Amino acid sequence: MTLVESNFRQLPEMVRFAARHRVGGVIANMVKGGDGSWKVRHHDELAAAFRASHQEANRLGMLLLLPDQIEGRPVPEDFGTESNDRGCPTYLVEAFVRYNGDVCPCNMMNPYTYGNLRRNTMDEILRGVLSRLFDYLMASEAKHPYCRHCYFLRRRTLEDGVAAPRAQEVFFAGSSSPRLPSLREM
Ligand code: SF4
Repeated sequence: MTLVESNFRQLPEMVRFAARHRVGGVIANMVKGGDGSWKVRHHDELAAAFRASHQEANRLGMLLLLPDQIEGRPVPEDFGTESNDRGCPTYLVEAFVRYNGDVCPCNMMNPYTYGNLRRNTMDEILRGVLSRLFDYLMASEAKHPYCRHCYFLRRRTLEDGVAAPRAQEVFFAGSSSPRLPSLREM
């Protein structure tokens, strides 16, 4: 569920809805784009919705992933899932292909584009200058503005709460092509 200003209060009900329909879990992350000021204004209400949802998920035996921060301000509870706010390993192990062939860094709808599959192969795109530039900027203080306060949530194991390693993934309709090695491994 992507939380926006008009729906975040429905999160506890969404957990109940998912449980009623035997859905295994709910990922609650936050919409990106815009100035994000509504998230700052509603910080306490958002945190209360997270808390209520967490209690419902526990009661119903549901997996629920919640952000550990709201626009960079930590959620003062221990149920938050580690987000990519402080650092991002995700773009190194996945890529996202849009409907039009654009290849982007991740499935958070980051607007940055490495290239397009109608012009180049995936190999050329992921080894190309725009991909390398994104890598370079992410390793500096000048990371892409969209990555600021990122709500990508890294799933933890239920047993020990430690972040589980993600498989290397390409979100690419109609292909089983494996992701290329991380650019940093080249
Ligand atoms: S938006 Fe940026 S920080 Fe977030 S997962 Fe994508 S690349 Fe990483």
